[in-house]
Amino acid sequence: MHTYTQMLEKKYTTVPSNIRESHNLIMADYSAALDKKVLHKYQDLTQSDDDTVQCMYVWIDGTGEGLRCKTRTLPSEPKTIKEIPMWNYDGSSTYQAEGSNSDMFIVPCAMFRDPFRRGRNKLVLCEVFKYDMRPAETNFRKSCKAVMERAKESQPWFAFEQEYILLAQDSHPLGWPKMGYPGPQGAYYCAVGANKVFGRDIVEAHYRACLYAGIKIAGTNSEGMPAEWEYQIGPLEGIAAGDHLWMARFLMHRIAEDFGVVVTLDPKPVAGDWSGAGGHCNYSTNVMREQGGLKHIEEAIGKLRTRHKEHIKVYDPQDGKDNLKRLMGDRETSLYDEFSSGVADRYASVRIPRQVFKDGRGYLEDRRPSSNCDPYRVTEAVARTTILDDWP
Ligand code: ADP
Ligand code: MN
Ligand code: MN
Ligand code: MN
Repeated sequence: MHTYTQMLEKKYTTVPSNIRESHNLIMADYSAALDKKVLHKYQDLTQSDDDTVQCMYVWIDGTGEGLRCKTRTLPSEPKTIKEIPMWNYDGSSTYQAEGSNSDMFIVPCAMFRDPFRRGRNKLVLCEVFKYDMRPAETNFRKSCKAVMERAKESQPWFAFEQEYILLAQDSHPLGWPKMGYPGPQGAYYCAVGANKVFGRDIVEAHYRACLYAGIKIAGTNSEGMPAEWEYQIGPLEGIAAGDHLWMARFLMHRIAEDFGVVVTLDPKPVAGDWSGAGGHCNYSTNVMREQGGLKHIEEAIGKLRTRHKEHIKVYDPQDGKDNLKRLMGDRETSLYDEFSSGVADRYASVRIPRQVFKDGRGYLEDRRPSSNCDPYRVTEAVARTTILDDWP
């Protein structure tokens, strides 16, 4: 027996299959075409006459991949996350609720400085809850946090490599010839030169904005396909890795907006002999980082091997379907159906970096998560499998 609300939820919280982030490309250059010098005239207005600050709430929508945001004025600068009140929004416009019962709640969970409005203004990442305060379908943070709480004695650290592709407004990769294709993969990774990398201004702006905001960004490089880039977030302990990666993604979308460019996290937006985009998860626990840690790394890999299928299911927002396009055992990817591991092996599901092997301690790299993975789902799965030994 289903209750009326259960029936409504089933009907209205399903995201139409044709709705994907990378498809929203209409008129992407319009905001960039506005004169930013005019905006600066207003951004320079002082905020010092009273204590108010602008606080932009950021949350994950019903696609599990898209981000939404809205701003409110707070009477004074919040010093901790607890000082920022919860808020609500219309879930019927985010693939999360139906119109007649549309309110969703957003509960602040991580606060950052706002690199756009600067000063005392804030960005705040939120968790989403339904009208009855149950977590929304795409709120994977709540259960991740509970798992990290239980696993905290092992001090799990995670670092994500976020690969992504820049698209021009016509959904063509930025800088690609309008007819035909650029030369084959090989010249573009960690490259320099106007014929090899496209969109570096966006990368530089994002790097600095992350540092300003207080996001732990570790570095950046251009990637194998022209217009593809990567930044690394972490290492961060527990839930913070997911928090920082989601806010780094928000900054990337927001900055690209200023440039009239679209960021896609689609793991394979262009068919052909390109490696696609991943979200490698580098992972260690306290014992892995200490002397003799290699033994613990290998032990963890053994556990990951036994749960390969379950992990693949939570490593992209389509429960494994997106990674089907990407994990083909070529171009430095592993096979979708088969777990493998190795030292310095970029065709393995899980790689032990050469330096880690030499040192006999350090971390492992799970190469399976897709670029559009939810880091909360990935880190929860890794901690469950390797630390807690429990799978729901
Ligand atoms: P790749 O060679 O796969 O491109 P990257 O240099 O892009 O590797 O990313 C490796 C990431 O691993 C870096 O962000 C780094 O901060 C992170 N890292 C280093 N040590 C640890 C550790 N002990 N636990 C988790 N992550 C770590
Ligand atoms: Mn990398
Ligand atoms: Mn990479
Ligand atoms: Mn990697």
